[in-house]
Amino acid sequence: MMVGQTLKKKRSLIRRIAMRRVTNLYAFVGGILLLMSGAMVLRGGIGMRIGLGVSVVGLLVFVWGIAFAKDNAHRGRYVVAEAHDRSVMQNVKLGLAIMTCGFGAWYMTGAMNVMVYLAGGFGGCYLLVGFALYLRGPREKQYLWAYREDPLHCGKCGYDALHVSENQCPECGWYYPPGNLLVETRWVWWWWKNWRIIYLEQPKRNLVMLSLLGLVLNAVVMTAVVIMLTRQFDVYALVSLIVVLTVSWFWLHTNINLVRVVQYLWS
Ligand SMILES: [Zn+2]
Repeated sequence: MMVGQTLKKKRSLIRRIAMRRVTNLYAFVGGILLLMSGAMVLRGGIGMRIGLGVSVVGLLVFVWGIAFAKDNAHRGRYVVAEAHDRSVMQNVKLGLAIMTCGFGAWYMTGAMNVMVYLAGGFGGCYLLVGFALYLRGPREKQYLWAYREDPLHCGKCGYDALHVSENQCPECGWYYPPGNLLVETRWVWWWWKNWRIIYLEQPKRNLVMLSLLGLVLNAVVMTAVVIMLTRQFDVYALVSLIVVLTVSWFWLHTNINLVRVVQYLWS
């Protein structure tokens, strides 16, 4: 038991350090892309268009790295409420940073071009997600996940659960779940980890949400691809390319998970 715990802790620490390295690398690569694109912009012509595209991607990656680097360096015991606050702040910071980039672009060029709208739109989306997360608060499911991973502490508040004889936390009143309780896992949507879904809490709701999301994403990706294929390479084609690059993973993810939920419901 003790050896297992120590190993698990060590592994999660290694994972956190690796994550921090990845974000630092992103920030570094983003900085280099920015410098390169600056040089390209100075040349003008087609180089300027490519430079503009690269600088937008570089800036987003750079901002992403900066916004997440500090939070990923977090150490200590995992408490759901704290993790929730961190993810709210990550979304708000990222949203504000992207919108600031858009404002900077508008301020420097004096033109309300597509890039400025795009920065406003993306930044606004992150702000909305942060606000929605803040309103919703942590979910019961997250407490269960935390408890499953560390049954020595309360899943809700992190209080010591080892020396408590009742089935309720003396600190916050949360009821410890029974050992045989079926819980939707944290990794349920990670299809590359385990294709077959073992248990879903609200499969019908998941089906509806994934279908709607799939419809919207399919429409967005198809429109962007049509624009890219039918137009000369102009700023709209560039924006379409950025949109496709940004949502492609999400799009693939949604469609694959839709298939998995259908399999789960009809098997
Ligand atoms: Zn508690």
